[in-house]
Amino acid sequence: MSDSAPQLDTPAMRQYRQFKEQYPEYMLLFRMGDFYELFYEDAKRASQLLGLTLTSRSKGPSAVPLAGIPYHALDSYLRRLVAAGERVAICEQVEDPKQAKGVVERDVTRLVTPGTLTDQTLLDERESNYLAAVFADGKVEPPAVGLAWVELSSGSFGVMDLPARELLDELTRLRPAEVIVPEGSDLDAPAFRQSLRDCAAASTTGRPAWAFEARAALGLLHKQLGVTTLEGFGLDGYTPAISAAGAIIDYLQETQKTVLGHIRQVRPLDRSDHMLLDGTTLRSLEVHRTLRGQRRSGSLLASLDQTRTGMGARLLERWITFPLKRYSEILARQQAVAELADDRARLDALRDRLGRCAQIDRITANIALGRVRPRELVALGQTLAELPALREALAGLGAELVAGLSAELDGLDEPAGLIGQAIHPDCPNVLRDGGVIADGHDEGLDRLRSIGRDGQSWLASYQAQQAKRLGLGGLKVGFNKVFGYYIEISHANADKVPADYARKQTLKNAERYITDELKRYEAEVLTAEDRAKALEADLFEALRTALCAFVPALQSAGRAVALLDVLASLAVLANRPGWVRPAITQDNVLEITAGRHPVLSEQLREKFVPNDTRMGAADDRLLIITGPNMAGKSTYIRQVALLVLLAQTGSFIPADSATVGLVDRIFTRVGAADELTAGLSTFMVEMVETANILNNATSRSLVILDEVGRGTSTFDGLSLAWAISEHLALRVKCRALFATHYHELTELAGMIKGVANLNVAVREWADEVVFLHKIVEGGTDRSYGLHVAKLAGVPRDVLGRAEQILPQLQAHLAEGLDVPKLDRKARRDGDQLQLFAPDGPAGRVAHQIRTTDLDNLTPLQALDLLRHLRDQLK
Ligand code: ADP
Ligand code: MG
Repeated sequence: MSDSAPQLDTPAMRQYRQFKEQYPEYMLLFRMGDFYELFYEDAKRASQLLGLTLTSRSKGPSAVPLAGIPYHALDSYLRRLVAAGERVAICEQVEDPKQAKGVVERDVTRLVTPGTLTDQTLLDERESNYLAAVFADGKVEPPAVGLAWVELSSGSFGVMDLPARELLDELTRLRPAEVIVPEGSDLDAPAFRQSLRDCAAASTTGRPAWAFEARAALGLLHKQLGVTTLEGFGLDGYTPAISAAGAIIDYLQETQKTVLGHIRQVRPLDRSDHMLLDGTTLRSLEVHRTLRGQRRSGSLLASLDQTRTGMGARLLERWITFPLKRYSEILARQQAVAELADDRARLDALRDRLGRCAQIDRITANIALGRVRPRELVALGQTLAELPALREALAGLGAELVAGLSAELDGLDEPAGLIGQAIHPDCPNVLRDGGVIADGHDEGLDRLRSIGRDGQSWLASYQAQQAKRLGLGGLKVGFNKVFGYYIEISHANADKVPADYARKQTLKNAERYITDELKRYEAEVLTAEDRAKALEADLFEALRTALCAFVPALQSAGRAVALLDVLASLAVLANRPGWVRPAITQDNVLEITAGRHPVLSEQLREKFVPNDTRMGAADDRLLIITGPNMAGKSTYIRQVALLVLLAQTGSFIPADSATVGLVDRIFTRVGAADELTAGLSTFMVEMVETANILNNATSRSLVILDEVGRGTSTFDGLSLAWAISEHLALRVKCRALFATHYHELTELAGMIKGVANLNVAVREWADEVVFLHKIVEGGTDRSYGLHVAKLAGVPRDVLGRAEQILPQLQAHLAEGLDVPKLDRKARRDGDQLQLFAPDGPAGRVAHQIRTTDLDNLTPLQALDLLRHLRDQLK
């Protein structure tokens, strides 16, 4: 609200302005009667975002822009505001307007921000909604940062400390909706905020430095978690992550204004327990989203997700993005998956039950936060009723991971009973109109309801009873608006009126009376409906309070269901035709027979061509993959990375057989995808990422390089690609796959032990080129640029001329000469000298024949080779 904005000096508007000053960054929804009103800039923005009619309060120069949302439609409008990235402060009337003397008392009861959503209608059930906080410790070298994250809608709360340069990677992995940063620090700089938006699509919230202060943070955490030390959670001593965690609790308290009873644990995440995946790798392997279009469908996660619950889907995301590194842990998952997959009938039954489970974790969070909806409780009750059957379905399973679950799914009969007994199964989702509490749950409520419902019959029976008592058949009980209920007796029968009848009204022919009983009934009837609603609210709250005692048990049941769901989802994959359980080993090897790309092969089905991979610690450590455009190089190297990632998640993989030597980290630098990161040029980005790989890869890492060096001039690029390959092969000694159009790199294989060449088979038939997508041994010694030009329809004589020029250029440049003066007269058919020059076509053919492994050539490949050689001599 700008200073020059017109201001109406009414008490309500004074109140409004006071709240607006308190929450300047929020869109303020100000409850007035049946509407939430918005004023000034908020009204203009909301009317644009929501299509509300913009009106104005008062006329003329003091007009105030105004828009309103009907109170009962708040949820759906809120959903759209949040989706548009708004932060919303909800200001309610906190006293009954009927009781109010003067202006109704109001207060902001809730602040809705992207990272603190709890309402299931505002959340995607299959995606986590994290609030994260970051804090940098400027005093240590190298710079370290703390990261904390919470999902308010489930209560999960984690922390980690990490090197500053990996912060964005972890945020990309977590994908928080909102990140809290210390105001005025480096983390609050516009560049970092922009990176957060680019990498994690997160909005940023600045908080003052004191919110991160070590002592205050520890104090807040102790209080929140009900402990005097964090040692029990595996956190001893202060680290920057504690500051971040403290800032999260502080922010939640400020925005939620309620007890956070479901946040009872904090889990430190040890990065060394997991395979590291940086932001670039997650993006280029399309783990969460596709590169093109940023869609979930088509991503690795979407194509693997067979979970039946939102909880399971969210846990699966954690598993896929945090693959394991320890042999024993991977094996434990594999065993559970294999055992579940083994008995298909059991698996089907189990998944059927899982499909009937509601989001226990989110409902439980809402119970603790005091925001649970009636229908959520019904769903929770029904879910709890499924648990015994789930336990039964687990009976007899021996896998360690599943065996323990039975206990966690047990012991929830009591909350199930409480809900079942108290809540009407067909209740509305809001308390407001009543009808939520079941009949028979509370005597008082039953009576209030029966007064409304059975009022007429009570009156009839009371009338009959009085008629009999007085011996007056025509006695009537009536009602009128002014005097209320009465018993009417004609003057003729005045002598029959008993002493307990009190005179109320005199008519011409009759007298009207009231009794104590009738008076009580009248009072009840007249207020019964209001009182029933109030009583329902009290009973609902009593139930919620009673359920709070079960929050920890409900949370662990939720975790158990999620775990089971993920394992069952992996079991479904395991049962897909052509998926196997990979053998896991500590050796630096990777052997895959007939491996398939987990996403593409599901789309292409039998059209997908499976490929083998053989890599060892000593031999074939670095594979150079050459071949024409569109042959399938990128697909192949991604496939290898994805299969390793899946294997270390504990999943089966699409292959005939596989042995996967544990990998500590997957690095990828894939393609010259147009990344518009922080204004760096594409080549700069490429080199930054390559530097990251070269500096951080260990001998246990898996490195995937796709066309690195392409972003600069040919000879720069080639030299870089060469040097990078040497470094990986000789220094790092990790397993690496390098897809490249620089066919010159194939010579490394003859020079460095551990380097091998692969290429993608292509068959040329008539004028057509058929891509076989088959990875075969050996390199190509020819660049395919001309080939692509041919595909693209460049005229034949242009291609012929280009073929002539190419070897000359190569010969000269290889000797360090300037671009040669080309023999302008040379003609394709008569140029014998050029043809037999060492770098000419014949020289290349000779080299190719020399380096061909004849023992491993199939007749078909031999034929292909022959044709290929002949073509070069044409
Ligand atoms: P390159 O990196 O060699 O230019 P890509 O890996 O991008 O080639 O693959 C090009 C296209 O070829 C892909 O979009 C895909 O449709 C198809 N393709 C790649 N590998 C296979 C395969 N193994 N089986 C079937 N089709 C494939
Ligand atoms: Mg490619």
